[in-house]
Amino acid sequence: MQDCIFCKIVNKEVPADVVYEDGDILAFKDINPQAPFHILLIPKKHIPTFFDMEEGDGQILGKLHEAAVQVARDFGLTESGFRLVSNCRAGAGQVVFHIHYHLLAGRELNWPPG
Ligand code: 5GP
Ligand code: ZN
Repeated sequence: MQDCIFCKIVNKEVPADVVYEDGDILAFKDINPQAPFHILLIPKKHIPTFFDMEEGDGQILGKLHEAAVQVARDFGLTESGFRLVSNCRAGAGQVVFHIHYHLLAGRELNWPPG
């Protein structure tokens, strides 16, 4: 997608601090971190929201989840843990319309979230 900032990051048109990459998934540091450890995980495929998923995209989402766990392992979060969140649609706080997980850690995370 031409105007999608995350697609531009996938295509290396916009720089990002990448922490994980494979054929389907990219993970990079959030530009405006909400915790000491704030990573964004995205499928390389442009899918605006979960409601736009097509047949077969569930596999990509599975890989996205596995990549999140891998990143958490790599960064030593196995004991302290992490939070994985995804905002779906503007009403839930989604600003970038390319599916992504936020992986947050490194501070006390309250529940319920705001
Ligand atoms: P959302 O509100 O859509 O769930 O989250 C979008 C996230 O993308 C925000 O946390 C925001 O800081 C991050 N973000 C937006 N633009 C960029 C960018 O150009 N680079 C990086 N690394 N993060 C971005
Ligand atoms: Zn995109």
